[in-house]
Amino acid sequence: MATILDGKKIADMRLEILKEEIEDSRIYPRLATVIVGNDPASQMYVRMKHRACEKTGIGSVGIEFAGDATTDQVLQTVTQLNNDADIDGILIQLPLPKQVDTARVITAVFPEKDVDGFHPFNLGLLFSGRPRFEPCTPKGIMTLLSEYKIEVAGTRAVVVGRSIDVGRPMAALFTNADATVTICHSKTKDLTEELRHADILVSAIGRAHYITREMVRPGAIVIDVGINNVNGLLVGDVDFEQVQHVVSAITPVPGGVGPMTIATLMENTFTAANVRSCDTVW
Ligand code: NAP
Repeated sequence: MATILDGKKIADMRLEILKEEIEDSRIYPRLATVIVGNDPASQMYVRMKHRACEKTGIGSVGIEFAGDATTDQVLQTVTQLNNDADIDGILIQLPLPKQVDTARVITAVFPEKDVDGFHPFNLGLLFSGRPRFEPCTPKGIMTLLSEYKIEVAGTRAVVVGRSIDVGRPMAALFTNADATVTICHSKTKDLTEELRHADILVSAIGRAHYITREMVRPGAIVIDVGINNVNGLLVGDVDFEQVQHVVSAITPVPGGVGPMTIATLMENTFTAANVRSCDTVW
């Protein structure tokens, strides 16, 4: 039977440790979230992030824009948050509505407050093998693997998806951890052929139950990033019921990668606050 990689349990444990670290530090980290529009899923994620802040003793402010906000309006707020000495981390909840220029907004966040790690400067450092802020979902996955003592070095890691928030940084983190990495995407010719080689398979596609038992190497470790709403139920990219019988470890959805993402955001925010409080130049 596969080990269920319990992200919820590990995340709760890490948040508890972080809370104590924050208490001992006498630093009061503060996170600002920016959301545009009223997409229910995005609103729920932002609420969960604020709740995690409360749990750990991180202050938080939430800035909400109507769905028809312009790029300039969002940029103005980012500038204010950049210049606000009381704010350590800025999180722009993605996706932004079509009329808002996402790349400009992400690039406007000061890299030292970019706790999501999406700024090209931080992504560049990550790809150079000198990471500073690493995007929360892939970093949370590395933490989860490490908490379960799963060795990454020397493995074949296959990542499905090449977004800047998950797929690409996941591949960079695996590379930095000495895995041999393949990135697959919608133009990959024979996905099953690629996946059958994976010791560690990460799926970040956004298609319910797309990864089936036949596509997975027996004994593999499967990390399911996907969050898909099927008739009001949240399910992953992986056909969990079938795949769990052939793999050695697998994350559930919900309760796997999601909680690790949020715990990592809290950890990144504390790191940002720590660095700012020491006036350290990275
Ligand atoms: P995204 O930006 O839409 O990227 C999806 C990627 O999947 C793209 O690179 C796309 O390829 C690839 N893809 C789509 N269909 C494919 C197929 N049939 N075969 C192979 N590759 C395919 O999505 P994302 O932001 O990375 O998110 C992916 C999923 O993870 C979503 O369900 C999202 O909700 C979830 N997510 C979860 C967390 C968490 O904390 N659990 C965090 C972030 C995202 P192309 O590049 O060729 O189009």
